[in-house]
Amino acid sequence: MTRIIDGKQQANRLREVIGQETLGLQERHGIRPGLAVVMVGNDPASQVYVRNKARQAGEAGIASFEHRLEANVSQQALLALIATLNADPAVHGILVQLPLPASLSEAAVIQAIAPDKDVDGFHPINIGNLATGARAMVPCTPLGCLMLLRQQLGELAGKRALVLGRSNIVGKPMANLLLRDSCTVTVAHSRTHGLAEECRRADILVAAVGRPGLVTGDWIKPGATIIDVGINRIEEQGRSRLAGDVDFTSASQVAGAITPVPGGVGPMTIACLLLNTLQATCHQHRLPFAEDIPQRALPTHRK
Ligand code: NAD
Repeated sequence: MTRIIDGKQQANRLREVIGQETLGLQERHGIRPGLAVVMVGNDPASQVYVRNKARQAGEAGIASFEHRLEANVSQQALLALIATLNADPAVHGILVQLPLPASLSEAAVIQAIAPDKDVDGFHPINIGNLATGARAMVPCTPLGCLMLLRQQLGELAGKRALVLGRSNIVGKPMANLLLRDSCTVTVAHSRTHGLAEECRRADILVAAVGRPGLVTGDWIKPGATIIDVGINRIEEQGRSRLAGDVDFTSASQVAGAITPVPGGVGPMTIACLLLNTLQATCHQHRLPFAEDIPQRALPTHRK
């Protein structure tokens, strides 16, 4: 029987444990974690994400500070705001909602964030630390995928994993995380030859492509665990709905476990943002961070 991985439920559990930890931090040390979210322009989708992040942060005992800037803000003004947030002791995590308008340099903005407040894990120092196996802030979406995989499968060592997509935000950090867990990792992308055969070899398939329904059931090894990161808005019979990169109907006939879209990876991403903010707070105050929060919140199905 294929298991449908309920990311919404797992994210709720994770946020609950994070909430207990932040409460403890406040009671024992009088510290409230703070997350600053910077948004440039009025993209409606980004506004929804930012509102969700702020609400969920509040519910988990994390203070959130929203900074909305006009789409025509200068690079200098944006960098000045980041410098202020870097220096603000009430702010432990800084997130700049991407994409930025084309007039701004995303790379320069990301590099301006203090690496220990970089809760998105996009700063080159955090990317380098992740790649070398050092302690790092890990990008939220692949971190959430890893937690779901560990919960489903327990030990990942030796499993054959295929990461479909090589973006800096999802594909590359996902591959590094799976390597760190001793998987045999292949990264496939738009120039890969024989994509279907590559997919069919995988015990674990993480799809982060942005092409609705690209991966169909006949690309999947029977019993494989499928993590669908894709979020694609499609029009069907005059109605708009969200679809993943995996064709859920055919894939769920073959897979051992699969995440739905919506309700799979998406909710875990925000929960991981809160976890990263808690971790950043502990490190900035030189307090121990409970590394076992994911295991406590999401115990493994199989031992
Ligand atoms: P991206 O556009 O930066 O990268 C897409 C990758 O897919 C590229 O590496 C490209 O080589 C590869 N690709 C494109 N077409 C392909 C094809 N036909 N065959 C094989 N590979 C192909 O995208 P991204 O930022 O990594 O996001 C990927 C998807 O994940 C999008 O749908 C995005 O909305 C979604 N996403 C979801 C979350 C979440 O929280 N669930 C977070 C980030 C991104």
